Amino acid sequence: MRTISNKKVNLRIGYGIDVHRLEENMPLFIGGVRIESDLGAVGHSDADVLLHAICDALLGAANLRDIGYHFSDTDPKFKGIDSKILLSEVVKLIEAKGYSTVNVDCTVVLERPKLNPHIPAIQKVISALLKVDGDAVSIKATTHEQVDSFGASEAVKAYAVCLLDK
Ligand code: MG
Repeated sequence: MRTISNKKVNLRIGYGIDVHRLEENMPLFIGGVRIESDLGAVGHSDADVLLHAICDALLGAANLRDIGYHFSDTDPKFKGIDSKILLSEVVKLIEAKGYSTVNVDCTVVLERPKLNPHIPAIQKVISALLKVDGDAVSIKATTHEQVDSFGASEAVKAYAVCLLDK
């Protein structure tokens, strides 16, 4: 607990990263939105790289381990699961420790297709799940400049940082 301008605050920063392999004939979900693409993400769940990175950022800020600790990728219960359900469960976990989200800032590394047209829809989904205004959810998209496996569209990656308040 710190005191800033005579106000007691308990702010916690969190950080998350996730990677999923890309393959043909798979759906691509990013931030809870289905993206039209010839390549989709492979994973035990729906492989939503952005929601997984946000889950880990929230869990990290609340010191609640990581997404794999809570939702094992070998548990049949989570096979093909909508990652929006996982994020809503993570929100319940941080709320149980008295935390709420202040904001999140994220970057998705995807060579193609362009993510920018989808960002308003993604912000809407994530802000509803985190129970914050759309302004508290920043989503940035970048390519990997055709370099390495990400640049060759072999994988997609997401980074997220968050701030929680108690
Ligand atoms: Mg993942």
